Order: sequence, then C-alpha cells, then structure tokens
Amino acid sequence: MSLFDDGQIDVGGAGCYMCRRWRQCKNPKIKPIGNMKKGLLFLLEAPSQGQDAKGRIDTGTAYDLLKKTLAELDIDILEDCRIMFSVCCYGRSKEITENYIDLCRSNVWTEIKKVQPKAVFVLGKSALLSIIGRTWKRDRGEFSSWEGLSIPDKNLNTWILPIYSPRDFLKDDQYKDISKEAEWVRQIRKGILLSKKKIPADTGLLPNTEILHGPNRLSYLKSLLSNKPKYLAFDYETNCLKPQLKGAKIYTVSFATNSETGVAMPFDDEIIPLVRKVFTDRSIKKIASNMKFEDAWTNVILGVPVRGWWHDTMLCAHIEDNRSLYSGLKKQVFIHFGVPDYSEAADRYLHSDSLKKLNKIHEMNETDLLQYNALDSVFEYKLAMKQRKVFT
Ligand code: SF4
Repeated sequence: MSLFDDGQIDVGGAGCYMCRRWRQCKNPKIKPIGNMKKGLLFLLEAPSQGQDAKGRIDTGTAYDLLKKTLAELDIDILEDCRIMFSVCCYGRSKEITENYIDLCRSNVWTEIKKVQPKAVFVLGKSALLSIIGRTWKRDRGEFSSWEGLSIPDKNLNTWILPIYSPRDFLKDDQYKDISKEAEWVRQIRKGILLSKKKIPADTGLLPNTEILHGPNRLSYLKSLLSNKPKYLAFDYETNCLKPQLKGAKIYTVSFATNSETGVAMPFDDEIIPLVRKVFTDRSIKKIASNMKFEDAWTNVILGVPVRGWWHDTMLCAHIEDNRSLYSGLKKQVFIHFGVPDYSEAADRYLHSDSLKKLNKIHEMNETDLLQYNALDSVFEYKLAMKQRKVFT
C-alpha cells in the first residue's frame, strides 16, 4: 500500500474539465520549475495573484523567502530543487477546496513519478491533502498536527515532509511570525538531512497474519506458556468500550511475539483458562496500545490482572509528541511505517457513538475482523520496539 495508488488518481484531462479554475486565471496550469540535482521537491499550495499575473512560480515574497532560506542551507533553489503547486491555477476564491485538490492531484502524481524526488516537502494544508487526501481520511485535524512529521512512502520511494507554508507566517508580506519561521527553517534542514537516507525497506508492507480456530488456539496458547516469549503484544476486539456495560463481550483476541506475524483467534470460554495463565505470567512482558483498555477488560471479563506490563505505544507516542491526533496506533503506523489506515473498513462496525452503547462488531465478517485484530497486535509489537530504541 502507498500514500498514492495509481488506480486512485485521475490521470485523464477530466480534472481540468470539472475544475474550471483555469477559466478564472490569466496563466493556467503553471508548470513546475527546477533541475532538482539534490532530489528535493517542494509542493506549494496554489499560485498567488502575483504568480498568476506573471505566469511563474519564482516570484513573490513567499518564494523569495524559500529561496533565501535554502541558499543559507547551501541549496540552490533552481539547481537543486523542483518546485510545483498542488493546485496549479490561481482562483478568485482564497479558499482552496478539497475538490480542487482532488481534481488537480493527477498533475502532482505525474510529476512526482517522473522526477522521483528523494524528499517531498509539502508546504501547508492543501499540499498535504494533495498527497494524503485519498489514503488518510480519519481524524486529519489541523495542519499543525502534521507539521514536522517524516512519513516514508513505498510507492514514491521518498519521504513526505509536511512543513508550514511561508504564507502561514507571513502576514500582508510584512509581519512575520518569527517562532513559526524558525520552526520552518529547522524542518527544512531536517528534511535535507533525511533526503540523504533511503526510506526503510519495510515501508508500506503489511506484516503477516495468522488466524487460528478450534484446538489450534489452545496449542498456540500452550506454546506461549512453554516458550515464554520475552515480549508479547496483545489486543482485544470488543463490542463496546466499557467491560462493565451490560452485554459487554470480547469477540477476538490477538497476539504478537515478533515484528513479523500477528496471530488472532475468536475469543470464547474454551480459551479463557489458558489466556488467564498467559496474562498472569510475569515473565512474559506485555505490550499494548492504550493498555488501560486491555487491562480493564482482562480484569472484568477474565477476572485476573495483567501481570508484567512493559510498554504502552500510545503513552510513549504521547510523551514523544503531545499534539492531538498523534498517539493513536493507526496514525503511528502511518507515520513510522508508511502504511495507510488499515482500519477504514472495520471502523464502521467498531465505532460507537457513546460509552453506553454496543457497536456493530457482530455484523463484521469474522475473517476480516481477525485479520484486523492480528495487524493491531503485530504493529503494536513493531512500534514498541522502535519506540524503545528511541527512549532507552
Ligand atoms: S487547478 Fe489543476 S485541475 Fe484545476 S484547472 Fe488548473 S490544472 Fe486543471
């Protein structure tokens, strides 16, 4: 999976026909510029009126500031970089709607595929939506919750680097938000360094999953007890958020003892005695994302405490960066491993509007649910190992 999938992109001329922004401007579809000798692509939002009047990207205060900043970092903007817009025509309305971004995405896609940058700096919200709009639909939040992240993309074989647009801190071409500008420069410097590194080989790859039924579940749980893995990530899928709710039930449970494979199984009375033993074995260090959830359900439904808690990926992510919409497992998987949201199909069954309501998990295809559950555990394990390297 990739941030971009070929099939999702409008590659014909229908985009311009539907968009019609070209009819509002003097110089439609302003072309990318730059020789990109250092493999840096800067994706800007949309042309300003001044850029439209001249029909060029390389004009205006925002461009001049980018040029000067890069020069101070020993980068020649036209020799070393490629500069383009995510919406290539000036429009009378200041608002750049998602519709325009969607319709113009094929131009961005075609250019990135052609020039194969080592890093794509996405400057501002429209540019960000141009890159992630089709593959990341949940909890996008404000642009500030993405600023400064480094997301590897397998298909494009590059880093995606959201940074502020100069327009975010230049006001009326006069007042500057100095702290935002300093952060902007810092992120450009960081991105230039990152562009010299290849994206990780496992970017965008889904780990293996194994689904167990009947007696195979018991054999697996016994093997956990005899082999005593050093670390064990586990995850429940349940029909509500609170185990105390009437009718609360665990549907599936999953485990991972390494970063390669997640194992999931339906949860019922037959496996409870062995699951209890696994969770109360202190020598097996436990990993979860939002461990208070697994802890509470184990206490209430299995009647035992979890012993040997070792790592919570959500808590750790929150310590790393306390911005909102950062610490959830799916966002972390996206940021660290370049895997787009794998929970889109499951969300409508697992989401519940209220703490007091049951969700629709019983309507979900069981194999899909188990696959999803297995992925959660293996990604929790993989993420925990990565976080521990940073924090210890
Ligand atoms: S903004 Fe993009 S999609 Fe719209 S008319 Fe211009 S080039 Fe075409």
